[in-house]
Amino acid sequence: MSASDPLHWPIVSEYLEHAADGRLVFPVCADCGESHFPPRVACPHCLSADVDLRESAGTGIVYSYTVVHVDYHPTWGERTPYCNALVELDDGPIVFGNVVDCDPDQVSVGAPVTVDFTDVVGTTLPVFVLG
Ligand SMILES: [Zn+2]
Repeated sequence: MSASDPLHWPIVSEYLEHAADGRLVFPVCADCGESHFPPRVACPHCLSADVDLRESAGTGIVYSYTVVHVDYHPTWGERTPYCNALVELDDGPIVFGNVVDCDPDQVSVGAPVTVDFTDVVGTTLPVFVLG
């Protein structure tokens, strides 16, 4: 891995540390005030590198989703079929994550969701549950 690998960007490491502590955070630009996702080294709106992480309450609605039926990687294969969604946070940007603990057929656009967290090969990632 190299320094250009996004997993080594300090803001991504910080994002994952918050997730490991059970907090969903999202980037907010200190210069223009816009939020974005995923975390990156510069604001996509104004290219400022002055980006902070803000904690979300972790609630939102399903903005869009797809159900994955193909077992394309052993990490996720045992979980197929699963729902991969874009979630519009009530207090932040649209983020992505799986909707878990339900039949994927229960997921719909506009459905309310709440963040939860799951461990995937040693990394804690945000996921969402219906309700
Ligand atoms: Zn900005």
